[in-house]
Amino acid sequence: MAQRSASTEQDAWIGVRASRHSPNGHVPGDATTPRGIEPHQAIVVGAGSAGLAAAVALQERGFETIVIEKSDTVAASWRSRYAELRLNSWRPMSKLQGPGIPRSCGRYPSRDDVVRYLESFARRHAIELRFRTELLGMNRDNEFWRLETSSRSMRCRYLVIATGWDTVPVMPSWPRAASFGKELIHSSEFRSAAAYRGRDILVVGAGNSGLDIASHLVRAGARVTLSVRTPPNLAAREVLRLPGQPLLVYFGDHVPGAVADAIFRAVQRLTFGDLTRYGIPRSAIGVYANYREHRRNPAVDDGFIAALKRGTARAVGTVERFAGGEVVLDGGNRLRPDAVICATGYRRGLEALVGHLGVLGDDGVPIHHGGSDHPRAPRLYFCGMWGPFSGQIRLGPIHARRIARAATIDRKMRYRVSSGV
Ligand SMILES: Cc1cc2nc3c(=O)[nH]c(=O)nc-3n(C[C@H](O)[C@H](O)[C@H](O)COP(=O)(O)OP(=O)(O)OC[C@H]3O[C@@H](n4cnc5c(N)ncnc54)[C@H](O)[C@@H]3O)c2cc1C
Repeated sequence: MAQRSASTEQDAWIGVRASRHSPNGHVPGDATTPRGIEPHQAIVVGAGSAGLAAAVALQERGFETIVIEKSDTVAASWRSRYAELRLNSWRPMSKLQGPGIPRSCGRYPSRDDVVRYLESFARRHAIELRFRTELLGMNRDNEFWRLETSSRSMRCRYLVIATGWDTVPVMPSWPRAASFGKELIHSSEFRSAAAYRGRDILVVGAGNSGLDIASHLVRAGARVTLSVRTPPNLAAREVLRLPGQPLLVYFGDHVPGAVADAIFRAVQRLTFGDLTRYGIPRSAIGVYANYREHRRNPAVDDGFIAALKRGTARAVGTVERFAGGEVVLDGGNRLRPDAVICATGYRRGLEALVGHLGVLGDDGVPIHHGGSDHPRAPRLYFCGMWGPFSGQIRLGPIHARRIARAATIDRKMRYRVSSGV
């Protein structure tokens, strides 16, 4: 475990002070910090893959850096995900700085492999971690950032927000949902397919999570119905036994959008055929156009479409409302599932933390990310807070390097100004 936190929070504070700070609790060279506020050069918020990558990039450039994390462990998001989950991004494209997840974990490592990898990454790089410390609010304090956390006030010059892309579950609000009286959960609460064996399950949403959960449920012996509102751009995990993700990324980067969309459509047709009669019509928008315009990624199939064709699963239209123990679809058809799992996505949840700074777009996504900071919020960076085509894990170290480079330039400029160069 990468947990450096001692048995009590106080011990953890003492450990950090002893190792990094002068006896009066100040970062060396900073004589301006008010009493009671813990100073750092750089603070990273969130000990997921993006936050850990940012901490290492900053450390390597010589910044005194601490990661604060609201839970009591690294990789909290991955730990909380369902037991059957495997990466749908290819292992070599799902790594942080340095060695990746071991080859022995296969092309698509399991949830537990990812957790072990992040733990050993944090340990190998001796990242300074402060658990049970939630960022509650922040503001400019002259040239610094002042943070209010669940344990105390902190201050830093460089602040990196890495609180995750899939943060706040989005749950549809259907009329009379409360009358259902059976299990109605968001996919973030789904723990294991095994618990659903032999039951009728309605999965709502045909994105990555919906398709993945549906295929695990089929394998576990559940009777699965998938509710499809927007037909997805389906991608096979492997094409001719080659991983699909690098091909998708390659075409996206090197081929004009319209041509790449046409190639993808042809591959999709060859792989899956026409699925209209199975309840999944062709997507109205090409895969690359969909990403450009709506930042929506293709949905990776790992067996659900085969189940659909075999008749062991089915796809239906949009849920309109609930009526007692029944689900009423658009058009009036009714289902009587034992449980409903809503794979209806997430929001970033940044409004409460940084909304007042004017750094978010209308969609709640930071306007600037990676090494670019908003003119209204200098030296405030967002790491991994963007929906990339090539996977969120891969994005972390890319952003992290850019952030560390930007902070280094700022430090040089400051040195020049203060020394009159
Ligand atoms: C089901 C599912 C499958 C996925 N599969 C893949 C995949 O195969 N490949 C891929 O690349 N991506 C995948 N993703 C995307 C996923 O977002 C990334 O894998 C990864 O978790 C992102 O890392 P992160 O560090 O940005 O966010 P997270 O891992 O979510 O880490 C954010 C951390 O910040 C902490 N935090 C949040 N708010 C605060 C606060 N206010 N104060 C202090 N700490 C805070 C959280 O506790 C958490 O530990 C998947 C997502 C889901 C939901």
